[in-house]
Amino acid sequence: MSTLATRVRRHLAPAAKTLLLRCGGYRAIRTIAPSRQIAILRYHAVCGPEGYAYAEPGICVTPESFEAHVAYLSSRYRVIPLPEAVDHIRNRRALPANAVAITFDDGYADNLDAARVLHRHGLVGTFYLTADGLADGQPFWPTEIKTLVNAMPGPSLTITVPERHTLSLATDEDRHRAIRTLTKLCKGNRIPVRDALRAELRALAAMPAAPTATMLTWDQVREMVRLGMDIGGHTLTHANLPSAGPEDAWREIDGCRKVLRERLGVEVTQFSYPNGGAERYHTEELHRMAERAGFTGAATSSNGFASLSSDPYAMERVEIEERLEDLVFALEVERFAFRPAPRVTSPGAVTS
Ligand SMILES: [Zn+2]
Repeated sequence: MSTLATRVRRHLAPAAKTLLLRCGGYRAIRTIAPSRQIAILRYHAVCGPEGYAYAEPGICVTPESFEAHVAYLSSRYRVIPLPEAVDHIRNRRALPANAVAITFDDGYADNLDAARVLHRHGLVGTFYLTADGLADGQPFWPTEIKTLVNAMPGPSLTITVPERHTLSLATDEDRHRAIRTLTKLCKGNRIPVRDALRAELRALAAMPAAPTATMLTWDQVREMVRLGMDIGGHTLTHANLPSAGPEDAWREIDGCRKVLRERLGVEVTQFSYPNGGAERYHTEELHRMAERAGFTGAATSSNGFASLSSDPYAMERVEIEERLEDLVFALEVERFAFRPAPRVTSPGAVTS
């Protein structure tokens, strides 16, 4: 986020944002200076505290808030399917005024209800799925790490992969720190090392490699397809692609599109790079892989707005806020503070 946006966000009181919503301030901005960018919203889980066992609180919004977001967005914005927005970007065709697209990462089971809410409002969301990490597949490793660490008796755990390391589990804060450390190791190492570490943790917790029930099942995804939702790829196993090396990265990107198309019988045109955060999670080489695999667009987790000058394989997305007024503040005020990312590719590049 630019420094101006950070300053504005930090200093404007939450009450001021609420006032702007109630007095029609945001509506005035939309009317006087409509956005010509596309706000690609980045949701993950739609749940209350009951979901914190499988998703970090920072990536959850409650069902009540989600319902309020969708009701507001559907009546005041042009909410368009993401593939349609990507078409505009690729062909440099002007976007509709005040355009928004709605996306979800990972494939949590609670996304089915979110899809029903979108359907009820006549909207289409893009759901980026971890193709081998659904409820009837392999465990979704970020959730598995949390489950395993929370199941261990303590007061510490010692791993030997990738090297010997003892982590304290004495307090709740220690457990959170251990989960963060292990997550970082999973992101920073190649896939076989990551999976060996997970196997070691399973042995320490005396828990089998049970699939994660908190993810969508294929039947639930089929229902979402019947509701008209767009299905996108988010790799096979939520690999951190730069750490995986080019061969495994290609298998993860190309493989997830193939699995999703074969199992669902639908076109899969959109991709999102997993594991946004402090570590490097997408590169120019990976953008080209997404293109070569046949995706027409790929989204990052960089907070910002995509526009006709964006690279369709590195589209920014807008971070979700729990409160409606904070989300609309981002859409109507912070958009003036973001600089669009420079375009790297030419429009109309090869896709299948
Ligand atoms: Zn993800």
